[in-house]
Amino acid sequence: LQLTLAVIKPDAVAHPLISEAVHEKILSNRLLIIRSKILNWTRSDSQNFYTEHSGRFFYQRLVEFMSSGPLRAYILAHEDAIKLWRDLMGPTKVFRARYTMPESIRGLYGLTDTRNTTHGSDSVESAKREMAFFFPEFSVS
Ligand code: ATP
Ligand code: MG
Repeated sequence: LQLTLAVIKPDAVAHPLISEAVHEKILSNRLLIIRSKILNWTRSDSQNFYTEHSGRFFYQRLVEFMSSGPLRAYILAHEDAIKLWRDLMGPTKVFRARYTMPESIRGLYGLTDTRNTTHGSDSVESAKREMAFFFPEFSVS
């Protein structure tokens, strides 16, 4: 089974009905939950996680947002976990998500291009790095 790292971002954790709906999406799509926890990021956690985006115009607002309130992180397993979870999330930009994938998580619940409800690893390598970032005690060889 392939593993991926999924996160419910602060905009969605702040709304119990939305975080519950995202959790339901995970279950109804037969993604297995291997680990799950709620945590808060410091600004420096946020900066480290998103270093690849430093220099982009949205970096500062992304860093602030992701350390603004609780996150819920998951390690999910499925035959095709990385792509399945990203397909369920929909496009990064909310207006695009609304038009092209209105039933996707971001299409339904995204607020802005930054406050877009969820995160998902985009490759096997990033999944490995991101799982270690959130769940250092969980190591996959
Ligand atoms: P994620 O990494 O959160 O799963 P993604 O892979 O679809 O999303 P990335 O390009 O990796 O998108 O961007 C990381 C995050 O940065 C986005 O999810 C969003 O919160 C924010 N972001 C990306 N592009 C923009 C933008 N043009 N304007 C504002 N915020 C953005
Ligand atoms: Mg990304």
